[in-house]
Amino acid sequence: MLKITNLTKVYQSDEQALDSVSMTVSGSEVVAIIGVSGAGKSTLIRCINRLTEPTSGSIQLDDRELTTLSTSTLRDARRDIGMIYQEYGLVERLTVMENVLSGRLGYVGILAAIRRRFDGDDIQRAYEVLDRVGMAGHEDDRADELSGGQRQRVGIARAVLQRPEIMLADEPTSSLDPGTSQEVLSLLSEIASDDGIPVLINIHEVDLARQYADRIIGLADGRIVFDGTPAELTPAVESRIYGTGESEPTDSVSDPSDGGSKTDGESQLPTETAVRT
Ligand code: ADP
Repeated sequence: MLKITNLTKVYQSDEQALDSVSMTVSGSEVVAIIGVSGAGKSTLIRCINRLTEPTSGSIQLDDRELTTLSTSTLRDARRDIGMIYQEYGLVERLTVMENVLSGRLGYVGILAAIRRRFDGDDIQRAYEVLDRVGMAGHEDDRADELSGGQRQRVGIARAVLQRPEIMLADEPTSSLDPGTSQEVLSLLSEIASDDGIPVLINIHEVDLARQYADRIIGLADGRIVFDGTPAELTPAVESRIYGTGESEPTDSVSDPSDGGSKTDGESQLPTETAVRT
């Protein structure tokens, strides 16, 4: 279970991106985070895997407090978090199979990934996972030969191969056409229910959130203004989320006391390089 308590992020520019956000994600739920551009959706996802350092508050994945982990223990924790990126995060010159296997390593340097030997079980599982995401037969294709939808399927396969405790998807459909977006979200929701892995998705398109999420969280000005089912997302609530920034927090928002000071300002770790070209 992911439990976030009073998470606050103030960037060095003094921009407050998150203001005492509290939420839990567990079981096999698909939770969509919606809100206007600048509402704090991406900052929330990035704080969870510590690509952005929270200013204060607590993020617990099962029994582990993520905000205070050292660099080496953070690496272990990140193996339990499957990340899915808007721009797929594949290494373009590597094959589909190599990209998927790199998921077993978590966030490590790509040279280490290439040199690393994988055992037969990993490779067998990678074939199975690729089959599951509809990419059987493409194992030896290079990532740069694939369509956007195929790339995202490979990105999902890589995350699934990690056997993560949670999957985080940061705008996974923004670079895809509507039909492909539907396929990708349908795949994510299938994996959530089949494997019992909760999925937290930062998504722009409300219609897709309604269609595929079990729960929707509305962010406005860095605060949770809605946390409920798609059916509860009425037009009035939607306009509060997408309004002019005058939104008031709902009852679901916790009190603003925070859970202890962490690192000041922005301290981005260069860890994403492992999955970028
Ligand atoms: P969303 O994903 O909902 O579009 P973001 O989390 O990207 O929102 O941004 C939330 C707020 O934080 C915005 O006002 C944005 O300008 C600001 N912000 C995001 N990243 C940074 C950064 N690296 N440095 C300073 N401000 C940032």
